[in-house]
Amino acid sequence: MTLRLHRVFHPLTLTVFPSFCRLCGRALEDPEERVVCSRCLHQVEIHRGPVCPVCGRFYQQEASAGQVCGQCLEAPPHLSRHRSLGPYSGRLKELILLFKYKGCEVLSRPLGLLAYEYLAGDGIFAGLDCILPVPLHRNREKMRGFNQAELLGRMLSGLSGLPLLTRVLVKTRNTPTQVSLEAAERETNLRGAFEVRKPGQIEKRRLLLVDDVFTTGSTLRECAKELRKSGTLEVRAITLARAL
Ligand SMILES: [Zn+2]
Ligand SMILES: [Zn+2]
Repeated sequence: MTLRLHRVFHPLTLTVFPSFCRLCGRALEDPEERVVCSRCLHQVEIHRGPVCPVCGRFYQQEASAGQVCGQCLEAPPHLSRHRSLGPYSGRLKELILLFKYKGCEVLSRPLGLLAYEYLAGDGIFAGLDCILPVPLHRNREKMRGFNQAELLGRMLSGLSGLPLLTRVLVKTRNTPTQVSLEAAERETNLRGAFEVRKPGQIEKRRLLLVDDVFTTGSTLRECAKELRKSGTLEVRAITLARAL
């Protein structure tokens, strides 16, 4: 009888609560799989080659390993180190878009795990005091319902044991979306858009900023500049993907 009931109810359960991977359409069978299947997560392209030791620019040639890129030599950034998981394309881009714009907040877990798994080995968490998410303006956060950088920061905080500081760095100006702007306009667009509210909490500290995508780096640079002005000793950063 139990067996027959099981046979009757099982397909019904599937009909009532269909759960399929939002990227490839396969049925999600493992209870650990949420929104996206593990096969799609494994298809994320991680950059394992050499990078600029400062800004994390991806180099395609082994010969460049360890060399600081021209841009960092020309204008030493306020960020001492930045690393991304991989290029902003393919599965990683699809995952970030689902996470950010389709209300799939649960993806902060697999994405945060991936970032920690691949980037911690580089020593980027070593010697840090705390993690800060790149803030959204409160109107944008209200519209979206969450700040994706804060969700990622929370995951990384849990994995690394470093405290997460929110509402210390805030975005005071709701700037037009960066997507439609050229590189030079992005810098001007963000000038003075961030503010440190509780400088006492970051003074003489070493921080890690967290964001989802590094496009031209203008957001991270502007945040790092404000933090350094407020007495932070060092600012590093992690993003999931890099567009350049
Ligand atoms: Zn899938
Ligand atoms: Zn560089």
